[in-house]
Amino acid sequence: MSSILTYIAISDGKIKRSSLEVLSRSKAIADANGLDCDAVIIDANASTFTDSVQQYGASKIYVVEDPIFIQHRNTPLLSALSKVMEQSKPNVVAFASTEGTKDILGALAANQNAGVVADVSSFDVTGNGVLAKRPVMAAKIMGNVEVSGDTVLVSVRSGSYDLVESPASAEIINIDFSIEESDLKAKLREIISATGDTIDLNEAESIVAAGRGVKDEEAKNLISELASVLNAGIGASRALTEAGVYDPSLQIGQTGKVVSPQLYIAVGISGAIQHVAGMANSKVIVAINKDGDAPIFEVADYGIVGDLYKVLPPFIEELKKIKG
Ligand SMILES: Cc1cc2nc3c(=O)[nH]c(=O)nc-3n(C[C@H](O)[C@H](O)[C@H](O)COP(=O)(O)OP(=O)(O)OC[C@H]3O[C@@H](n4cnc5c(N)ncnc54)[C@H](O)[C@@H]3O)c2cc1C
Repeated sequence: MSSILTYIAISDGKIKRSSLEVLSRSKAIADANGLDCDAVIIDANASTFTDSVQQYGASKIYVVEDPIFIQHRNTPLLSALSKVMEQSKPNVVAFASTEGTKDILGALAANQNAGVVADVSSFDVTGNGVLAKRPVMAAKIMGNVEVSGDTVLVSVRSGSYDLVESPASAEIINIDFSIEESDLKAKLREIISATGDTIDLNEAESIVAAGRGVKDEEAKNLISELASVLNAGIGASRALTEAGVYDPSLQIGQTGKVVSPQLYIAVGISGAIQHVAGMANSKVIVAINKDGDAPIFEVADYGIVGDLYKVLPPFIEELKKIKG
């Protein structure tokens, strides 16, 4: 085992925080095991991100810069990652578990004849592979998964690790890359953005999530106000996305998004297993529910038993005072 390569995902002209969390973890593993900690950036403006990536301890940064990467497309990304892997010969390639990663991981593993373990909440290297913890059965059970092989790909849920700066002076390796538009079998015609909240729930540090207890505009406004004070993303239980109260893209849970922010405030959510599957990994969970026996309190760090219409206004006022 001689190197760990971390893929740095760029979205909307910014490095995804979850990639830097994974790089921080890779650096710790590399230091503990005498491995090289490398990174790869693939983007239309990849070279502009090398300074930021150096802050997290990469000793070599592979840069693949081409206008084709203005939008995420699987074929050029797969091709670029394969090229970098063939040149750098890493033993482990670590990714943040983003939608883009999910799209390519299987194909990359097949391409590179690599083992793969996806969507883990922690990982380490062994003598000949990767040992990871992976939430299964709607996160009721944690599986210990060991994958052996010369090359293993691992994708890590956002929020699983803290950011740890470790400034280094990295060697920058520019990789020649070109692909013709005409070689791409799939054409990207349009990206339809999700309506609703603009904060990416996978990257959000705080999330305010609404459940069926949020019954009317007054309650929705309280949720928006709380989210705005905390600069939080807004999520919802399936009860509310199915009812059309919130956009389906905001659903959190087994059939929605899996999130792990620093702070998750569940308002009027009972805590069904399918919902908890999507938020149990949050660092601090606060539940507000008028039913003291609601299962959400079993996973909550802090619980407020009360009517959200009475609890939220003074709660928001206090937060404003603290912030202000
Ligand atoms: C295959 C499958 C997949 C599913 N996937 C998902 C998923 O991805 N995400 C998901 O969320 N669900 C999912 N579900 C649905 C899940 O089982 C629950 O039905 C759903 O999570 C319930 O949403 P809820 O907690 O908002 O509503 P409820 O269970 O109805 O709970 C509402 C809560 O609000 C409280 N409340 C009411 N009024 C107030 C008030 N004024 N103040 C404070 N509290 C109040 C109540 O005490 C109650 O606890 C799935 C179900 C299945 C079968």
